[in-house]
Amino acid sequence: MSLLLPLDDRDGVIWLNGKLAAWRDAKVHVLAHSLHYGNAVFEGERCYGGTVFKLREHSQRLLDSAKLVAMDIPYTVDEIDAATRLVVRENGLDSGYVRPIAWRGAEAIGVSAAGTKVHLAVAAFPWPAYYGGPSIALKTSRWKRPSPESAPTAAKCAGLYVICTMARDEAVAAGADDALMHDYRGQVAEATGANLFFVMPDGTLHTPTADCFLNGLTRQTVIELARGQGVTVVERAIWPEEVRQAREVFVTGTAVEVTPVGRIDAQDFPVGPVTKRLQDAYAKLVRA
Ligand code: PMP
Repeated sequence: MSLLLPLDDRDGVIWLNGKLAAWRDAKVHVLAHSLHYGNAVFEGERCYGGTVFKLREHSQRLLDSAKLVAMDIPYTVDEIDAATRLVVRENGLDSGYVRPIAWRGAEAIGVSAAGTKVHLAVAAFPWPAYYGGPSIALKTSRWKRPSPESAPTAAKCAGLYVICTMARDEAVAAGADDALMHDYRGQVAEATGANLFFVMPDGTLHTPTADCFLNGLTRQTVIELARGQGVTVVERAIWPEEVRQAREVFVTGTAVEVTPVGRIDAQDFPVGPVTKRLQDAYAKLVRA
């Protein structure tokens, strides 16, 4: 399957509400509730050699995200796992990306979701590299991550990505690869679809506490890998002025895996040994 084809005009199948649909027929109506009110929840998964890494955890997070936005997905975690395996197999996908999404349909309109049905689809397609190069440049965004009192920040919910899309597109327009976002308190939060790590001068690895953004599965995996390598990992509030002391910086995420950050705003960072070791360890683990 070509990477350049539009996402709605490809061969293959998409799992849609319990059945495999022809790729081009997997459509939603313009009056779907989630299109208007942003309450869809989704996942981003990668498969390696035909196997989805941490499939169970992703399917469970989809159900958890739905709960956080008061949406009941009418499938169990086992059924979502099975649907995902089926769609990867039926599309003959060896390595690529999987996108499950649950949304409220066009059964009712208005801010209230009462009367809407929850629909679920799982699509799988090739997506080799999220960023263009071996390391990335980040630009600090004017957009701030909201407080958990203002948004369901632990959910992977479509509406939360409105500011991420604007932040990333503004960063790219300014010549960077992605945005570095602060939170409502002014603390360093994350990139627009990936978590942040800093290797500090004493060799310890610091990452912002995930209390108002997604505690990424890759973030959790990398913390375990680092501890296994004898690296001290500290989860704490990180303030923007501390960033310049970092010896190495990298981002983690299912799509981005472990990607070194070579620049933040005007400051360059070398791609160092801690990042390289974790990058290698992650690459090995996902293919194990
Ligand atoms: N933060 C955001 C906003 C994301 O979209 C993602 C990608 N799902 C992540 C962090 C990383 O999460 P994970 O490692 O589970 O992919």
